[in-house]
Amino acid sequence: MIPAAFDYVRPADIGEALRILKEREGEAKVLSGGYSLLPLLKLRLAQPALLVDIQALGGLDGISRTDDDMRIGARATHRRILEDDGLAAVLPIMRDAAGGIGDPQIRNWGTIGGSVAHADPAADWPAVLQALHASIVLRSAGGERVVPARGFFIDTFQTGIEATEILTEIRIPLPAPRSGGSYQKLERRAGDFSTVGAAVQMTLGGDGRIAQLGIGLTAVGDAPFAATHAEDALRGAKPGDEMFREAAAAASRQSRPADDSHGPAEYKRAMVTEMTFRALRAAFGRALA
Ligand SMILES: Cc1cc2nc3c(=O)[nH]c(=O)nc-3n(C[C@H](O)[C@H](O)[C@H](O)COP(=O)(O)OP(=O)(O)OC[C@H]3O[C@@H](n4cnc5c(N)ncnc54)[C@H](O)[C@@H]3O)c2cc1C
Repeated sequence: MIPAAFDYVRPADIGEALRILKEREGEAKVLSGGYSLLPLLKLRLAQPALLVDIQALGGLDGISRTDDDMRIGARATHRRILEDDGLAAVLPIMRDAAGGIGDPQIRNWGTIGGSVAHADPAADWPAVLQALHASIVLRSAGGERVVPARGFFIDTFQTGIEATEILTEIRIPLPAPRSGGSYQKLERRAGDFSTVGAAVQMTLGGDGRIAQLGIGLTAVGDAPFAATHAEDALRGAKPGDEMFREAAAAASRQSRPADDSHGPAEYKRAMVTEMTFRALRAAFGRALA
């Protein structure tokens, strides 16, 4: 199928883009890498009257570090994130996740902001950002708001973003010393969306116990979510395989997978246990390194 007719604009600055989104509220859609939106247009599952292409907006694709956090522009491609050595040194989980997204063409064009705004229930970034307790920066003509990634992913393809807003940046708190993270993705074939994806970021306290923890899961619910039951089981605990197995089982019990072409729900629940266990172990190993 070919898309329904639409108008197209490519604003040169964010002020102009936001003004257009406000004027055409409900009719316009932001276009970034196009790797999720264009297939929807072709299938006529989305029929916006206007596409606001944000490719030409400057300053939205950088990766930088402040005293408190790492900041990733919404237009940063999966490839740019994959190849950023400074980011990987601080948050190796970001390289784990970026390297497993789609194929090289998708990584060259697809953006982290597009993935987060699109909120596919099997996307990788939403699980990772919840494990990292990241924040999402949204701008509208009226100003800026910063919202936690936890709570942002409301349902399948549904987020807290308004039609008049542009997602401009992701902020990830700098991890304390003795921190480590890992993203473990189970996919049927290289380049597929996750059958199950488990993200873990942990910090060890001076006593060797788990002081801070985030666990995010994808592809096993209506939206990617934080595995809070597993987090509660592990916070303050002495890390080790037995505890990790128990927590991974709690994560599995909290998941709500569906039967689909990736496999039956029962199989996916078993895989949540395994992938969460592997992510916990790998994150712990990195925290000790
Ligand atoms: C074959 C294939 C395999 C893939 N495999 C994976 C995978 O393994 N893992 C994975 O996580 N993803 C995968 N993807 C999705 C891919 O990562 C997309 O790049 C991503 O989901 C969307 O990013 P984009 O920049 O292309 O956004 P677009 O397609 O341009 O936009 C997607 C949606 O987000 C909105 N949007 C985009 N940017 C913004 C913004 N800054 N502010 C507000 N709204 C915005 C758009 O209006 C649209 O609704 C795959 C896609 C394909 C086609």
